[in-house]
Amino acid sequence: MACLLVTGHGHAALSAPLVTLTDSERAYLTVQNPIGLCVDPDWWPFEVIDERGQHRGMAADLLALVSARTGVQFVLHPTTTWEDSVAASQAGKCLVMSFLNRTPDRDRWLIFTDPLLIDPNVLITREEHPFIADVAELNGYTIALPKETAMSERVKRDFPNLTVLDTHSENESLGWVSERKADMTLRSLIVAADTIKHNGWFNLKISGQIPGYENRLSVGVLKSETLLRDILNKGVATLTDEDRRKVVDRHVQMKVVTAVQTDYTVAMAIGALLVLVVVSNGWWVRRLQMANAQLKAMAETDALTGLLNRNGLGNSFAFDVERALRYGRSLSVIMLDIDHFKAINDEFGHLVGDKVLAELGRLLMQATRNVDTVCRWGGEEFVVICYETPLDQAEQLAERLLQKAREHGFASQRTLTLSAGVAHVQAGDVPDVLVARADAALYQAKNSGRNRVCVAAPVRADAPPS
Ligand code: GH3
Ligand code: MG
Ligand code: MG
Repeated sequence: MACLLVTGHGHAALSAPLVTLTDSERAYLTVQNPIGLCVDPDWWPFEVIDERGQHRGMAADLLALVSARTGVQFVLHPTTTWEDSVAASQAGKCLVMSFLNRTPDRDRWLIFTDPLLIDPNVLITREEHPFIADVAELNGYTIALPKETAMSERVKRDFPNLTVLDTHSENESLGWVSERKADMTLRSLIVAADTIKHNGWFNLKISGQIPGYENRLSVGVLKSETLLRDILNKGVATLTDEDRRKVVDRHVQMKVVTAVQTDYTVAMAIGALLVLVVVSNGWWVRRLQMANAQLKAMAETDALTGLLNRNGLGNSFAFDVERALRYGRSLSVIMLDIDHFKAINDEFGHLVGDKVLAELGRLLMQATRNVDTVCRWGGEEFVVICYETPLDQAEQLAERLLQKAREHGFASQRTLTLSAGVAHVQAGDVPDVLVARADAALYQAKNSGRNRVCVAAPVRADAPPS
């Protein structure tokens, strides 16, 4: 098969600093140039071999910069699969492999340059999922990952509390999350940005990142060629943050952040993060931390309804409970749950289900006082925190909310009924305990026929312990 010369972006060479090579390095290149290069022919946007047999993508552009700055010339060894490329490299048919993570297996025959690019792996969930600050705290969630990959093995080992669901490809994994067959997946930020956009999976978002799980994409060099690795490393060292950003931007266009997206859908999340993709070191880490802080702030709002989510109640709720107790003020909590909501999804589909949830969110906001806090507690459950409100008034409010819902024409064009549980703050309460009482009352309402309000009886201070 004919070998084709890789064409670089020649203009980059003009302004770029040329590295200083030692005599032996120069002598090496005189003998060895051009250097055989094996690549992944089908890994867009990182790299592909296009229909004209040219190496394209981020790896090609970064290598072109290294080539221009070191004088190393590459000649592409054409293959049709990654497996072919690995076999060719192992057979010594190419001295260099373009863009790969270091693994114990690859260490058997390759040595590696410093990374050309560092691409974080991010956790991708549906948009209602709260921000994931610490993966170690995740318990009982499912994560879809292509089976028998290094990533899948690693997640199984590092996070035994997650259930790994085997898929056949990274795209299938994303699809499973979008279709609710799995809670999350883990994926390269750059690839995720590209494929989510192309597949229109806009109910997905980036919810977090696992430190230490980034792709450090380096050049692999045959073990015997240490001089070549040193020369390439000199070229890699000339790559600036700006060089890398331009290369990433050229291949993953983030202009998908459209004006209609007022919430933090995936495009914006990726947009915010992708600006920061690139390179090693503190700069990248700092920027990522900032982006994560931003995501965390955004994660306190529920994207579907625009209400606060459970995260968003956070500390202020604890403070409200404490203050009510200390100063003997009233504070009541109403927990609402849609009756037979699953049937609405089953009959009309999730999109209609989502519309109903959004409409109910608006209805609850309209029907409560401005000072009350309405929160989407999870799924089809809502919590209303009513300040300065004794139990009987909260009960009346709950009845009114149920009535409003019954009267409202929802997208499902069905009468929608709710069940509610109401509880009032009492000595010793913290938010979880107070909400648990409202939840127990809600459970009663469900058990006694739904479409009704039940009140958690206040525990009298002199009541005997039960
Ligand atoms: P019950 O009267 O006992 O509350 O029955 P239910 O069907 O409402 O309750 P269940 O807890 O069995 O089902 C809740 C359903 O809510 C299942 C879940 O798929 C759906 N759901 C949760 N979050 C969302 C969402 O964001 N959008 C949509 N469309 N459905 C959701
Ligand atoms: Mg329900
Ligand atoms: Mg429920």
